[in-house]
Amino acid sequence: MSVDLLVVGGGPVGLATALYAARQGLTVHVLEPRPGPVDKACGEGLMPGGLAALADLGVHPVGHAFHGIRYLSSTRSAVADFADGPGRGVRRTELHSRLSRAVTEAGVVVLPLVVTGLRQGDDGVELATRLPGGAGQRPERARYVVAADGLHSWTRRELGLDRPTGGAGRYGLRQHFRLPPWSRHVDVLWGEDAEAYVTPVSSDVVGVAVLSRQRRPFTEHLEQFGALVERLTDAQPISPVQGAGPLRQRSHRRTAGRVLLVGDASGYVDALTGEGISLGLAQARAAVAAVVANRPRDYERSWLAATWRCSLLTQGLLHATRPRVVRRGLVPLAAAAPWVFSAAVNELGRSA
Ligand SMILES: Cc1cc2nc3c(=O)[nH]c(=O)nc-3n(C[C@H](O)[C@H](O)[C@H](O)COP(=O)(O)OP(=O)(O)OC[C@H]3O[C@@H](n4cnc5c(N)ncnc54)[C@H](O)[C@@H]3O)c2cc1C
Repeated sequence: MSVDLLVVGGGPVGLATALYAARQGLTVHVLEPRPGPVDKACGEGLMPGGLAALADLGVHPVGHAFHGIRYLSSTRSAVADFADGPGRGVRRTELHSRLSRAVTEAGVVVLPLVVTGLRQGDDGVELATRLPGGAGQRPERARYVVAADGLHSWTRRELGLDRPTGGAGRYGLRQHFRLPPWSRHVDVLWGEDAEAYVTPVSSDVVGVAVLSRQRRPFTEHLEQFGALVERLTDAQPISPVQGAGPLRQRSHRRTAGRVLLVGDASGYVDALTGEGISLGLAQARAAVAAVVANRPRDYERSWLAATWRCSLLTQGLLHATRPRVVRRGLVPLAAAAPWVFSAAVNELGRSA
C-alpha cells in the first residue's frame, strides 16, 4: 500500500509534520522505532512562537510559563521579556505524549520501524525498514517522504546531503532537579567555557542544561557556576543525565527529489538560543505546504525564509563569545544595551 506521505522519525517535528499533513487531507504514516513517551537531552523551553504553532495544531502541553530570557554572570544580569506573551518549559515526555495523542486522533498510523534504505522513482519513494533490533520488514511506499530523523539524520547522510562542519563541536547535557523555580525567566549562566541554562518545567521541577566544547561530566561542568551549585546542593536529581552532540550539523540542500528534510535533520546550529523546536515546527508546516502543492523544490526557499534569522543570530552569538574576554563582557554588554538584547530575544521567541 502506498500513502501520500511517510515521515521518518516521530520526534516533535516529525509528529507535527504528520499533523499538518493530516489536516491537509493527506494519508500519513510515521516511522519511529522508539516507544513513547520519548525523552531526550533538551533545554525544554518552548518559545512563544512555538507554543502558538502547537496551539494551532490543537496541542496544549502542560508545563511552566517563563516570561523571557535572563543572562547571568557571577556579578551582573540582563533581562529581556517576550513581547508576545510567555513561553513554556515543557518536559519532552509531556510534549511527546500530547503530540502522539493528537497524531492518533488525526488518524495517522505510527509504525515502530527503523528506516534502513531509500529508493526514489519518478512518482514515489520506497523505504526499507526493520523492527528495532530485529528483522527486516516489508518496504513502505509513499508519494513523498519527510525526514525528521534528528541531529544525526540517517536520511541526510544516505542522500549525500550531509555537509562537513569543521572545528570543535559543542555538546549538551541536561538533568532535572526537584526544586521550585526561582526565576520568571529561562536563566542562562555564562561560565568560562560553558553555558548553563535553567528552565522551569513545573511548579517544583527545573531542568538544567549545560552546553560546551569541553567534554566532561555534568557535575564537573557545574562547578564553574557557584550560585547554581548552591541552589542545587540539597535538590533531588529526578532524571538521569542525558547528552547530545556534536550539535552543529549542516546540509547541502533540504530536498532531494521527493524527500524533504525538516527539524534537526535539515541542519542545526546550537542549543544556546533554544528555538530548535519552534523552528522545526515552522519547517514542518512549510514542507507540508510544498508537498500539497506538488512542488517539493519550493521548500528550499521556504526553509531558508523560516530559518535564516535564527541561524544568523545563534551563529553570531556563538562566534562572538568564543574569546574568553568577550564571554566575560557579554552580560554587562547586554545589560548596557537592553534594546539590542530584547530585540534579539524577541526575534528568537517569534520563530515558528
Ligand atoms: C542540550 C540541548 C538543549 C536544547 N534546548 C532546547 C530548548 O530549550 N528549546 C528548543 O526548542 N529546542 C532545544 N533543543 C533542540 C531540540 O531538542 C531539537 O531541535 C528538537 O528535538 C528537534 O526535533 P526533531 O523532531 O527534529 O528531532 P528529534 O527530537 O531528535 O527526533 C528524531 C526522531 O527520529 C527518530 N529516528 C532517528 N533515526 C531514525 C530512523 N533511521 N528511522 C526511523 N526513525 C528514526 C529518533 O528515534 C527520534 O525519535 C535543545 C537541544 C539540546 C541538545
